[in-house]
Amino acid sequence: MTARFTGKVVLISGGGSGIGRAGALAFAREGATVVVAGRNADSLRKTVELIEAEGGRADAVTADVSSSQDVARLVTTTVERHGGLHIAFNNAGVLEAGPLADMDEAAWDHLIAVNLTGVFLSMKHQIAHMRANGGGVIVNTASNLGAHMRLPFLGAYAASKAAVSALSRAAARECIGQGIRINAISPGPIDTAMSLRPGESEDARTERMKEALPIGRIGTLAEAASAVLWLASPEAGFTVGHDLVIDGGATA
Ligand code: ADP
Repeated sequence: MTARFTGKVVLISGGGSGIGRAGALAFAREGATVVVAGRNADSLRKTVELIEAEGGRADAVTADVSSSQDVARLVTTTVERHGGLHIAFNNAGVLEAGPLADMDEAAWDHLIAVNLTGVFLSMKHQIAHMRANGGGVIVNTASNLGAHMRLPFLGAYAASKAAVSALSRAAARECIGQGIRINAISPGPIDTAMSLRPGESEDARTERMKEALPIGRIGTLAEAASAVLWLASPEAGFTVGHDLVIDGGATA
C-alpha cells in the first residue's frame, strides 16, 4: 500500500456521506489523520467507525459550513486536537432541482449559503491558518453541471457550482505564492444519494445513466475519491487552479 499522506491532517466537509466519506476512507488508508465535518453527527460518527475499523485515524466535528463561527471553530478544533491542518477537502453541498419560477427565495438562499458561501468561509479560515503555518492544499467540490454544462431545472445548483469553480481558480492564483495549492473537482453523476432523483430507484438510475452518459454508467465513489487524492498529493504539485472533470464523458 502506498501512503502518500502519512503525517498529514486532512479536513473534509460533507464527510458523513458520498464523495466526502469515500475521500475520508481513502485518505486514511494512505496514512492521513482525517477530520470529517458536517451537520449530521451520526453519519460523521459512522465514517469515523469505518476508518477506525480499518486501523485508520479519524475524528468527527459537527459543523454547518454556512456558518462562519462553525467553520472557524472547525479549523481551530482540527489544529488543537491534531496538531495541524495540511489538506482541506471542501465537499459539503446540497442539490435542489425544479423550475426556477417555483423556487422560493429561502431555498435559493440556503443553496447559495451552503454550496458557495460554505466554500468561501472554509477557504477563508483554512487559508489564514495555512498561510501562517507553512502552506497547504485545498480541493473544492464543484460540479460538471456548473462551469462545464447546463441542464434545465438545476439553475441554482449550476450557478452555485460554477461560482465554486471560479472562486477556486481565482483563489489558486492568489494563494499559490503563499504555498497554498488550490484545485477543484467537477464530478458528474457519482454513486451517491445526490445522484438519485426524488423517488428514483437505483435500477431506474442505472437505466437513465446508460442514456445520459457516453460511458453508459454512473461513476464510482472510488473513481471520485482517487481524483481528490491525486490533486491533494505531491504528484499534482504543478497543478494549480485546475477544475478536474470526472463525468464519464458527459462534457467531453
Ligand atoms: P457528494 O458526496 O456528491 O458531495 P452527498 O449529498 O452525499 O454528495 O454529500 C454532501 C454532503 O454535504 C453531505 O454529507 C451533507 O450532509 C453535507 N452537507 C450539506 N449541507 C451541509 C452544511 N450546511 N454544512 C455541512 N455539511 C453539509
